[in-house]
Amino acid sequence: MTHNTEKPINRRQLLAAGAAASGALAASRAFAQDAQGQPLMGDPQLPEAAAQRTGWAVVGLGTFAVGQVMPGFLAASRARMTAFVSGNPDKAAMLGQRYGVERLYSYDNYDQIADADDIECVYIVLPVGLHAEYTIRALEAGKHVLCEKPMASTSTECERMIAAARANDRRLGVAYRIHFEPTNQVAAQHIANGDLGTLRHIRCEHGFPANPQWPPHAWRLQRALAGGGSMFDIGIYGLNTALMAAAGDAVVEVSGLYSYDRSDPRFAEVEGGVDWRLRLASGAIVSGSSSYSYSPYISRQTYIGDKGNITMSPACTYYDNEGVIDTGNGPQPLGAGPAATQFASQLDGFTDAVREGLAHLTPGEMGLRDIALIEAIYASADNGGIPVTV
Ligand code: NDP
Repeated sequence: MTHNTEKPINRRQLLAAGAAASGALAASRAFAQDAQGQPLMGDPQLPEAAAQRTGWAVVGLGTFAVGQVMPGFLAASRARMTAFVSGNPDKAAMLGQRYGVERLYSYDNYDQIADADDIECVYIVLPVGLHAEYTIRALEAGKHVLCEKPMASTSTECERMIAAARANDRRLGVAYRIHFEPTNQVAAQHIANGDLGTLRHIRCEHGFPANPQWPPHAWRLQRALAGGGSMFDIGIYGLNTALMAAAGDAVVEVSGLYSYDRSDPRFAEVEGGVDWRLRLASGAIVSGSSSYSYSPYISRQTYIGDKGNITMSPACTYYDNEGVIDTGNGPQPLGAGPAATQFASQLDGFTDAVREGLAHLTPGEMGLRDIALIEAIYASADNGGIPVTV
């Protein structure tokens, strides 16, 4: 896979990406021209001085937090890390030293974040089964919360999280980073512009080989910590990204069929693969597969309309998303900015929502919608694939 930073980009694509990013407000901020009138990727506002930035606590210092979230803060313009919450004091101290973060909490004294004025936002990067508890505790401590995907183990937990955000008048977002990822933003804008004509089919394939010996995969195979199986963890990218592209087209019917080896001991507690389908109000069909047995990793989205199509592979990775659009003249690269900007853009986007009292681009209600849809997919699959009306 190659980085796509060298590809030519044009102003229309840049503006399109900005508009898809977070509405007119973010679009007006997302792109600017340099002194020669050339378009610039990124945020035209100068990064704020550290003391001006909104302070965040990172909760759970695991693979994703250390590998992607923390570097994302270094690239952000308006967000900074001011606290870590961890069950491992040595790791927290080491990371605190590396990033200049002095406030270190355990899960036991976590509620004391209420007393820290330099923590305004909390980023929950824990196993899924812990999302609801730690999100609600942070909301009750008066903090705004960005919670990793999938939002929680059940739709009931999602509803409790949303209720806590409302009761405490705090913002709640789900960290669907793809909404901030340039290539997916350009794809979504082409669809919104009608460049593909009427959208008829969206195909989504997402999966990787789950390794039960590796701790970050081990909890994904335990129902209490994972909530569900591959659809919760990786298939959700296809579902959420498809519905982003289908902007506003409501889901009316859902179905699913399991597609994994029932004798595989990895899947004693959670599903290891599912084929799923959504029928949208417009008549368009979204269908996908999700698996913990794909090897190598697959991350693929295809959008097919009656005037053109978009193929993206890989579609939802951290650094290397690629796509082509074909409207009758052969495949043309979507050509967008580097995927890695999604992490900082997401942090700044949530910070902006907090500062301006607006809903985040990917609010808790979106997380609830997706968990409810996955529950309906499972209900259908448990019943031999009989469609479920939603
Ligand atoms: P890891 O297992 O690597 O990290 C989870 C961390 O949570 C641990 O390191 C630990 O941190 C803490 N933790 C607290 N209690 C437990 C427990 N009982 N079992 C395991 N860990 C515990 O997982 P990931 O980093 O891969 O995933 C974390 C979250 O991020 C999940 O919600 C996942 O879905 C999401 N994610 C999102 C991605 C994205 O692209 N948006 C990609 C990957 C993951 P400590 O030692 O500090 O207490």
